[in-house]
Amino acid sequence: MPTTSLSVLWDLTTTDMPFYDQMIKNPDYFRKAKGLESEIIYMTPNTYMMKCAKIQNSTLEAQYREVGRAFVDTYRDRMLAGVKFPIPVLDYAGGLQEGRNRAIAAERAGATTIPVLVVSRVGQVLPDAHPLILKQYPLGQVPEKMPINMDIPIPPLRGTVAPKTKVIVPENAALRTNQELDRAVEHLGYQSVSLSEEEVAGLEKPIPTDVELINESQRRLRRLKVIPDGQLNTRQLAHLNLARVLAQTICYRNPVSGVYAASIPPASDRVRTVGTYGTKNKAGYIALDALDTGRITIDTLIHELGHHRQYQKTGEAEDLEIEHAEAMTSIAGETVAIVATGKLDKLLVDVAW
Ligand SMILES: [Zn+2]
Repeated sequence: MPTTSLSVLWDLTTTDMPFYDQMIKNPDYFRKAKGLESEIIYMTPNTYMMKCAKIQNSTLEAQYREVGRAFVDTYRDRMLAGVKFPIPVLDYAGGLQEGRNRAIAAERAGATTIPVLVVSRVGQVLPDAHPLILKQYPLGQVPEKMPINMDIPIPPLRGTVAPKTKVIVPENAALRTNQELDRAVEHLGYQSVSLSEEEVAGLEKPIPTDVELINESQRRLRRLKVIPDGQLNTRQLAHLNLARVLAQTICYRNPVSGVYAASIPPASDRVRTVGTYGTKNKAGYIALDALDTGRITIDTLIHELGHHRQYQKTGEAEDLEIEHAEAMTSIAGETVAIVATGKLDKLLVDVAW
């Protein structure tokens, strides 16, 4: 087996998914605005597969059954030819993984460990039932020998050979019908690709179009349900009340119509939604799990009030636009200033950070 140094195989700046790539580029923003933490952790491919099984509540065997021999062979050959691959992902916050074929291909190329972008909610305790590795090594300092679990044999790969015409697209691909929708598609955790009709016919499984994804996300958001205060526990209510007073104080000139606890469906299969801002009724909605800790409640509130201010200024409420980022920065500052006055001290007593 050829010896392949890890750095040769991977492009550590990308996962091939815009949502996570932004996270690699701008971890502070995601920590503050989305309550998501991420780091690149090295593990053996087999450990990665076990963690995929854990995340998807399935078995290691089932994970290996999802690995396609044709993908693995192709990827391995490309890796050995010097093509750098986007790194795999384990997202404990969103409950998803991406990159099993790549992981096994790297192993077949001779790598003993692989870099994985591990994503979690701030403060989330990661499930780790396997007494194996989830040890972090600074980039470039991977120990020579990483333990490999020898007890679990690697089942043979699925023996399907791909026809020549098979078209391989990223697992999060959406069919581009309109370039102007690319940004919205990215926001949903997908990536627009342009394909000819012939190429579409060669796809292993159908992919959604950009328009379908966006329509679906709007359909999903319409299922948002406000949760009445009476159904909240003391802690959630304390956090919501804090958010309301802050919103009132910060937006006294252009008030929001309200701040509500809500059950918010994920905008797509690949993202989860902790808060949303309604442009029509100018209300902020905070998901129940964001009301569990004061910090995430405030982070979410700042994000949504940022949209409120952005919307007044530009008539748009898109994420990651410059006006949104500026509004969030200034609102975060205003929040600190308000807390410093001591006006909120009574409310803060019941807040769990
Ligand atoms: Zn947003």
